Parts: sequence; structure tokens; C-alpha cells
Amino acid sequence: MAVRDIRILGDSALRVRCSEVESIDDEVRQLVDDLLDTMYAADGVGLAAPQVGIPLRVFVFDVREPEVESGVLINPRFVEAGGTIRDTEGCLSIPGLNETVERYAEVVVEGLDRDGREIRIEATDLLSRCLQHENDHLDGILFIDRLSPLKRKLLLNKWAKMDESEKRSAGAF
Ligand code: ZN
Repeated sequence: MAVRDIRILGDSALRVRCSEVESIDDEVRQLVDDLLDTMYAADGVGLAAPQVGIPLRVFVFDVREPEVESGVLINPRFVEAGGTIRDTEGCLSIPGLNETVERYAEVVVEGLDRDGREIRIEATDLLSRCLQHENDHLDGILFIDRLSPLKRKLLLNKWAKMDESEKRSAGAF
């Protein structure tokens, strides 16, 4: 178990299209455990493997609501998506920046757990948003890519001028 460094915007690791995990071995299980440690240490609610520089289709999530499941998804596939919601979103890789992003309201995702078993997650609200944000990371997509070019430019200018002490993202993905 270890906390790994979270890659920050500008790092090419965040722009890679990640590969499927071919077999869940000790290395992958270690990655899962480290992602969980790193997510909790950063006070985040989700974290994807490319955010720690590993180009594999793996992410962890915990929206910190007792009735909502938490865990890991390996090789996730979205099998259903419907409705739209608009809410504020932040990213552990762009700390300090938050903006409203439109997402599907409800999603159903299938994939593998840490032991390689097939799992299916039906998600709404924050978990739905989190799963979509993490899945984007696996394709090298960041939430700022889902904003208008003007909005993105304004936000990135703001981020560039931010003091390091303001670059915090509790509750981000
Ligand atoms: Zn993120």
C-alpha cells in the first residue's frame, strides 16, 4: 500500500488512451490498493490509473455516502446512459478548478473487480458523475475538454495565476 504522486495538468500521462488490463495479477492488485490510498490521501472521491501515470483501464471511486457503493472498476464498459444533469465538477489533476459540467444522469457500467469478477453498477447523482469522469480519464479526456473553448480558456488562465495554496480539490475526481 502506498500513496503515489498524482499527475497534474500538462503531464502527458493524462492524455493517453489507456489499454485494457489483460490479466489481474499482483501488480494490478497493487495498483488498485495504491489508487485507493492515493484517492483517500487526497480527499478525492475517484481516481483513475493514468492520474498516477499508469496507462491501464482501472479506476477507484468512493463518493462517501453510506448507501452508495464504493470500489474499483477494471476494463469498465458503459452499457446504458440516460438523462442529463448539470453540476459542479473538479479534478484531482487540476486542483483548485471547479466548473459546471453536463453529464448523463443515470448510467449502468459493467467491468471487473479486484478479484476479476464481473460486476455491474447502476449509478445516479454523484456516483454517475464520478464514473463518467473517471472513464473519461481512461481515454485521455479531462473535464475541461467538455466545456466551451472560451470557458476553458478563461478557466485555464485563472488556474495559471492561482497561488499553490489555492490549488486544492477536496471532493474532486
Ligand atoms: Zn479527474
